Amino acid sequence: MNIDVLELGPMANCTYLVSQDKDALLIDPAWDMNYIEHTLKEKGLNLLGVFFTHGHFDHVKESAQLLQSHGLKAYIEENDIILSGLPAEVLHPYRGEQTFQVGPFTVHAIPTPGHTAGGVCLQIGEALFTGDTLFPGACGRVDLPSSDPREMRKSLLKLSKLPEETRIFAGHSYGGKCSSYIGQERLKNPFMRNAIKDEKVIS
Ligand SMILES: [Zn+2]
Repeated sequence: MNIDVLELGPMANCTYLVSQDKDALLIDPAWDMNYIEHTLKEKGLNLLGVFFTHGHFDHVKESAQLLQSHGLKAYIEENDIILSGLPAEVLHPYRGEQTFQVGPFTVHAIPTPGHTAGGVCLQIGEALFTGDTLFPGACGRVDLPSSDPREMRKSLLKLSKLPEETRIFAGHSYGGKCSSYIGQERLKNPFMRNAIKDEKVIS
């Protein structure tokens, strides 16, 4: 499995292109559909599915056009549909924890509310696409509409229990860094460390 990071837009958003042979998935395609289409074409990839980590505009912007042109519906947790502002005909809503098989890809959606109510992390093999829930050394903002700081702590605790070799890929490349490992975050991420320390209080 190959993972390409497409850093797009003025907010250092990361769109991820996951591919295996000629099959591909996109995670959080936003901002520049021409670039994304060009990349797919250049690599000769067949786009089979699209997943959103959450519904914030900077993760979904302009994607309706791409979805329509490929005849696809993007998988989104139902609590974030309204936030996305996308038309219902380009969305495939689901509720809670789910596993989807799209071509050769098994995608496990793990609900991680806190940044938004319908935020999820998407696990594909040993890769975990964390959206704005978990960043290397940080977590997402919890002061936005539908944010919940207490839920964020539970979500970080949940993620801390994944195998340490799980490689994370975050929704923004803040400071030029978008990737890390769960094992590293367990040791160094102050938000995750606090969640682990307070496990008894949180759960
Ligand atoms: Zn966000």
